[in-house]
Amino acid sequence: MTATFELAGQHVPAGRRQTMQLALAQLYTQSPLTVPVEVVHGKQPGPVLLLCAAIHGDELNGIEVVNQVLARVNPARLRGTLIAVPVVNVFGFIHKSRYLPDRRDLNRCFPGSEKGSLGARVAHFFVNEIVSKCSHIIDLHTGAIHRANLPQIRAQLDCPVTRQMAENFGAPIILDASIRDGSLRAVAEAKGVPVILYEAGEALRFDALPIKAGVRGVLRVMRSLGMLKSTTAKSVAEPIIARASTWIRAEHDGLLHLRVRLGDRIRKGDCLGTISAPLGTEVRDIIAPRSGIVIGSLTMPLVNEGDAICHIALFDEIKQAELSVERFVDELDIQQPAI
Ligand SMILES: [Zn+2]
Repeated sequence: MTATFELAGQHVPAGRRQTMQLALAQLYTQSPLTVPVEVVHGKQPGPVLLLCAAIHGDELNGIEVVNQVLARVNPARLRGTLIAVPVVNVFGFIHKSRYLPDRRDLNRCFPGSEKGSLGARVAHFFVNEIVSKCSHIIDLHTGAIHRANLPQIRAQLDCPVTRQMAENFGAPIILDASIRDGSLRAVAEAKGVPVILYEAGEALRFDALPIKAGVRGVLRVMRSLGMLKSTTAKSVAEPIIARASTWIRAEHDGLLHLRVRLGDRIRKGDCLGTISAPLGTEVRDIIAPRSGIVIGSLTMPLVNEGDAICHIALFDEIKQAELSVERFVDELDIQQPAI
């Protein structure tokens, strides 16, 4: 039997779950602003996993993933502790915005400081009260507004534990992504806490496939960490690690007609669609400069020259990557387009 788990001055007995509202700040109406947190504290000792979403306040798929995972975790059978934070950036969430009220990106404010900007204070609070308690992290994200991502894991794969978590999640593609300064990932890894980032779907939406894949992925990682009992191992598509990724940008301004979808394999020289003038008199082809798999794309048909249209992952074994994506979509069996 494990001891009581303490978080922000509150104590959760072993074998229990507890919802908390952690006081973060006040709105300028003087109304208190709180961060909702649920702690599920298992009877048996084990890892302390932080599952968090909406560091960017408009990224909703992760919130749904957190809630569906919570519904499946029973504290009586859990090994270790799950700290679930469905909305880290409550300021942005209220305003349906990626950012904080001062237009800062919270995921560039870590580790933060007690006396710094609003973003620095929120980051400092989150690191001190929550990140400092955990042994592993899964950070849930989506594409930006008007941009959708194929489910993918981003992680620094040099760390064997991180790599194992990334592979066990079961998203079809893994990007060996370097750390961005000021991100939650940067501060966690500096503390030696392995962290994987799940990117899937589009901001301000609930996307069925990314949510289903996210719930499945989190539960798979929890099983692999020994937090949940393993069920009969169902083989899943093996994730393929991308060598690199690149963006294809609009070379012209106009209306975009994109012919490729998330998960499609493209070959160098393929025509991916067209950009036309509003009257359609001038139509220009978009030619793929590289071969790869489409892992992100614009969902809105208006582009200026230089706008990112498609995010392409590059592979040494592209056939394997293509098969992995196909198998992944088949397994999840969602009767709608991938996004
Ligand atoms: Zn994000």
